[in-house]
Amino acid sequence: MHEAAVAENIIDAVIAQAPKKGGRVIRVVISCGQMNAVNDEAMEFAFDAAAEGTICKGAKLKIKHIPLKAKCKLCGKKFNYDLYDPCCPKCAKSDFEIGEDAPLLLEEIEFEEKR
Ligand SMILES: [Zn+2]
Repeated sequence: MHEAAVAENIIDAVIAQAPKKGGRVIRVVISCGQMNAVNDEAMEFAFDAAAEGTICKGAKLKIKHIPLKAKCKLCGKKFNYDLYDPCCPKCAKSDFEIGEDAPLLLEEIEFEEKR
């Protein structure tokens, strides 16, 4: 399962960045592109499962989906490529260049404040 492997990678990365003195993780934000898009529900489930027994247990996972950028070859309009409606919003043609897809990234980790 794709999501399970991704979840384990995320948790490994979070643990690697955790401050030595500890503190639980409250929130983890990841972003991904359209081609390697993960299923939100499956991802959250996999994250919870992988977080069990780590400092990430109980942390909230937020997934940001980064749109794919496209540029119309006819009118030059730049727009967010929609997988389900792939045509230029200005001239309605479907002749365009597609930009690079965003990679799966760990964007932000929020740790519990120690007092
Ligand atoms: Zn166009």
